[in-house]
Amino acid sequence: MSEFDIQTLKEITEVATSALKSTERGVSLVGTVKGLFEKSEAAGNSDLKARVSELSAQVTDAALANTKLKLQLAELLNELNEQKARNDKLARYELTERKSGSFVLKLRQEQQGNEPMHSICPNCADRRKHIVLQPKYHGMGTFNLVCPDCEADFGHLRSVPYDVA
Ligand SMILES: [Zn+2]
Repeated sequence: MSEFDIQTLKEITEVATSALKSTERGVSLVGTVKGLFEKSEAAGNSDLKARVSELSAQVTDAALANTKLKLQLAELLNELNEQKARNDKLARYELTERKSGSFVLKLRQEQQGNEPMHSICPNCADRRKHIVLQPKYHGMGTFNLVCPDCEADFGHLRSVPYDVA
């Protein structure tokens, strides 16, 4: 989702918020009108009374619909922001083929900064999980690169001399 969409949604949310405020004012205004009407001589007019009640109900419905809309928009905006954060995080990695022939998402050189060079699991990334691949002892003094979450094995990482292991 692009910046533009997020910006547009923010604007819609602002419009919905101001609409909500004006509906709240509408509700209180209709309440006042209703109160005045009931105290007035026109209160005996049943047709007029029905119309005031209907207006009051309509404004209340609009206020409820606006509140619901505002909540939905806030949820959507939140979801888009989370998606953007995930995409930004993922953009720091590139799909790389290892010597073993397996593919991992490796941190781009220019993105390294103070972090140690590492790769994340492409399977887990597809499931919106950010899992750093780790060495796992594979026997015979060798370590494989594996995902601690989905347990995918990305093949040989390194060997260690027997006297050290
Ligand atoms: Zn995984």
